[in-house]
Amino acid sequence: MVRLSGPQSHSILEGLFRSAESAADRHVRYGTLEADGESIDQVLATTFRGPNSYTGEDVVEVTAHGNPLILNRIIEAAIGLGACRAAPGEFTLRAVTNGKMDLAQAEAVRDFIDAQTDAQARTAMNQMNGALANRVRPLKESLVGVISELEAGIDFAEDDVEVPEGEMVAGRVAALESSLADLTATFGYGRLLHEGLCLAITGKPNVGKSSIFNRLISTERAIVTDVPGTTRDVVTETVDLDGIPIRFADTAGFREAGDEVESLGISRTIETLAEADLTLAVFDSSEELDDDDRDVMERIRDIPHLIVVNKRDLPDCWKGLNGRPEVRLSAKTGEGFDGLKTLIRDYVVDKRPADAESFVVTSERQAEAAGRAVERLRAGASGLRAGVPHEMVLLDLYGALSAVGELTGEVVSEDILGRIFSTFCIGK
Ligand code: GDP
Repeated sequence: MVRLSGPQSHSILEGLFRSAESAADRHVRYGTLEADGESIDQVLATTFRGPNSYTGEDVVEVTAHGNPLILNRIIEAAIGLGACRAAPGEFTLRAVTNGKMDLAQAEAVRDFIDAQTDAQARTAMNQMNGALANRVRPLKESLVGVISELEAGIDFAEDDVEVPEGEMVAGRVAALESSLADLTATFGYGRLLHEGLCLAITGKPNVGKSSIFNRLISTERAIVTDVPGTTRDVVTETVDLDGIPIRFADTAGFREAGDEVESLGISRTIETLAEADLTLAVFDSSEELDDDDRDVMERIRDIPHLIVVNKRDLPDCWKGLNGRPEVRLSAKTGEGFDGLKTLIRDYVVDKRPADAESFVVTSERQAEAAGRAVERLRAGASGLRAGVPHEMVLLDLYGALSAVGELTGEVVSEDILGRIFSTFCIGK
């Protein structure tokens, strides 16, 4: 489809389009596109009159045969009549500028188009419908209410206007703070939903990391060999587990580096573990625990991890790790993998807020703005309790108000707009 938006879009279409049907708003017409007396394609054209269009401007949509060569000729012909090429996300940017949607909805359009799992698409769809704005609007209204009462108290202090009781107002501000904090907390899950869970697999050489990795991704991407220390780089693969993208990273382990390539692999391993949301620490139940295993234990001690005991199919020498919970499995037979997947799933579900289906903050930008609002409200509430002059408290409350405005994009700088829309694809 070729889409034109702007006051000249209808006249540009009429300059190229020959149809027996007469134009009517939101009706599809069949006809031929011509340029320089030559037919380019037989197309369907739909015209929209602003403000009843995606961008809020006059819009034309031409559905042509999908050949990029033909589409390009249509674009060139339109440019010949005064159109220009759209920048990435320009249609959506115009929709925001013309008040057809807020910035959070625009971000949701992008996430919707980029969604790789059903859950991502569902969340983005909710946000396109304005879920964030609906959540934020009452909070904002009540903040504006508090601000105006405090302002009135200051302005008309001598005119018998009741000065609001600090403690009571502080309670209202604190309630707002906690609602916004709940919203911010959904970002833990939102980030997982959006970026996926990064799951690292670690353990000494030959415990079966690559085999486990391969079983989990159900392909044969990682190299499996009998020679210790061959997974020298970090191999990653993404799979969809209940709608959450899971990025598995298979690592080289921590063996004393035999050569330079291996030591490079080890430093990558350390980086991967630092970035991972969850680590699978793999041990081999057919062997006694040794110093290399203890080294692995030591390194994962302070990061979220699951203990995975592999090679269950072989004779057992495993005595456990001081009774710590573990998953026993066999990468060879596939036994125990359902249990492992359930644990990974539980880890994700634990982070899911109760109304995850209806609303989660998925963008770093939104989470940051909400976090800032929470901080300013907290400062405001404690200022009120401490009897700080209302003029000073208002500075915090206005700061919070502006952060809340940023959340849905009412108050937003050119710079931020540019950053957001540069991540869109062209034509959206
Ligand atoms: P890594 O070095 O930890 O990545 O280990 P690999 O996945 O390369 O496996 C090392 C060796 O152990 C290979 O020969 C695998 O076939 C074997 N192996 C891996 N998992 C199992 C298992 O569950 N049972 C048995 N019997 N052998 C396994």
